[in-house]
Amino acid sequence: MTKWNNRFRPPKDEWWSKGIDFTCLPECGRCCDEPGGIVYLSRQDAERIAEHQEMSLVSWLEKFCRTTYDGRFVLESKPSDGRCIYLTSEKVCTIYEVKPAQCSAFPFWGENLVTDRAWQKTKTICPGIDHPDAIMIDGDMIKLKLEADKAAEKGFRMV
Ligand code: SF4
Repeated sequence: MTKWNNRFRPPKDEWWSKGIDFTCLPECGRCCDEPGGIVYLSRQDAERIAEHQEMSLVSWLEKFCRTTYDGRFVLESKPSDGRCIYLTSEKVCTIYEVKPAQCSAFPFWGENLVTDRAWQKTKTICPGIDHPDAIMIDGDMIKLKLEADKAAEKGFRMV
């Protein structure tokens, strides 16, 4: 019988590793429509969006971001309703093609996949999960999205 030591322990067979049926539905926007939602930004996110808006990184951070209590940059919210500044009243993301990694990774966030209960709750938010038009997102892709979400959540603090 093979005994694995810690160094060579095989990866845990996560429940999602066989894949999950999902498609992001056009004009849904439910995951972006949360008052008080926080979107952490990686430096790459900030640089990409600033470039898309033809602004310097510093100017973009000053105009469209705020910082958390520990200094990480997050997207600003609309003062009127606390929703994302880039979400229109028609629920359209105006920076869709360059959106932050955390937005691209949803619903495959660590906190959503950690337990079946958390995933069931996520399904009540996201109608794209198990939708009839969904395609199977395989375990490797889900892992990449989890890692992107985790990296973005670390954020960055300095310009
Ligand atoms: S809630 Fe789901 S289907 Fe709707 S926009 Fe977000 S990821 Fe797409």
